[in-house]
Amino acid sequence: MVPFLDLQKINQQYQSELKEACSRVIDSGWYIMGNELTQFETEFAAYCGTKYAIGVANGLDALILTLRSWKELGKLNTGDEVIVQANTYIASVLAITENDLVPVLVEPNPGSYNLDPETVVAAITPKTKAILPVHLYGQLSPMPEIMAIANAHNLLVLEDCAQAHGAEINGKRAGSWGDAAGFSFYPGKNLGALGDAGAITTNDDELAQTLKALRNYGSHKKYENLYQGVNSRLDEIQAAVLRVKLRFLETETLRRQIISQKYRVGITNPSIILPHVANEQTHVWHLFVIRCSNREALQKLLNDHDVQTLIHYPIPPHKQKAYISFNDYYLPLTEKIHNEILSIPLDPTMDDDSIEKIIKLLNEYQG
Ligand SMILES: *Cc1c(COP(=O)(O)O)cnc(C)c1O
Repeated sequence: MVPFLDLQKINQQYQSELKEACSRVIDSGWYIMGNELTQFETEFAAYCGTKYAIGVANGLDALILTLRSWKELGKLNTGDEVIVQANTYIASVLAITENDLVPVLVEPNPGSYNLDPETVVAAITPKTKAILPVHLYGQLSPMPEIMAIANAHNLLVLEDCAQAHGAEINGKRAGSWGDAAGFSFYPGKNLGALGDAGAITTNDDELAQTLKALRNYGSHKKYENLYQGVNSRLDEIQAAVLRVKLRFLETETLRRQIISQKYRVGITNPSIILPHVANEQTHVWHLFVIRCSNREALQKLLNDHDVQTLIHYPIPPHKQKAYISFNDYYLPLTEKIHNEILSIPLDPTMDDDSIEKIIKLLNEYQG
């Protein structure tokens, strides 16, 4: 059996460090908003190349609370439009609608599945106030172009970095391009906690202060509340775990890159479309997503040979029952992508035999 992602095996590698980190927190007697969180925030901000990282409970909250902060600061208002790619995971869209903002779903670039600058420009209206590029599968959206558009039209940029920890363009990392960025440390992400966790990165002092209050009941000072905030904090135990995992992120990313390179060289079947990588990119390969017009048959072949695959994602947000009012949107490229994509195993702990087995099966497939 080749599992899609063997979390047990991944975390087993750091077993002693992780247990030591958890014991340290247990023994400290301090479990929320303490030293581990502060240290992790400093270390993660340094990793991303930003002034601040603000820990929150999960990646969805990171996105929700950033947009909410901009509303509290008067930079966004109810009904403002936010441009986002239609093929994203639903969380990016939920963050927009949760704030009574309007998601403008645009078709992605057909090669990278990320935002396409031309499509973004075409979608701008007088009500557009923000762009939400989602760096899907581990590759940055074309941020130099997107930032130029944002500057020209005076738009805020919130990066969704849930799948792109450490991805770079010209040496500049995910989370340091936009006005702010949301990260998820869900266990299966490239930097994964042992439970839920998330963070926002930014260089903006005012935004950072607002986020720190909002995540903690809206309180900027003990027992004084500036905002009607929420409880969305990153626990000390998870912060301690993340500090350990962050030290090994570079090594894991390198292994992901090596596996992906083997796939990209080895898979030569013309009926399978390989992921497209832009030249100047450092892709961190959260997922290896191939495309095939008869995806079901390909998935069955792999499954019959004990290779686990997943689909990211089978139903686009606009086709979900949760968004019934978007169900009639005409987004043929997004729908075609959702019908054809398949994510094959990409696990830093995979052995070479498993990689070879998958390449062989894919090359034998008769599409
Ligand atoms: C995982 C993910 C999220 C949400 O993160 P959670 O920590 O699970 O809330 C948001 N956006 C994208 C693109 C994701 O992949």
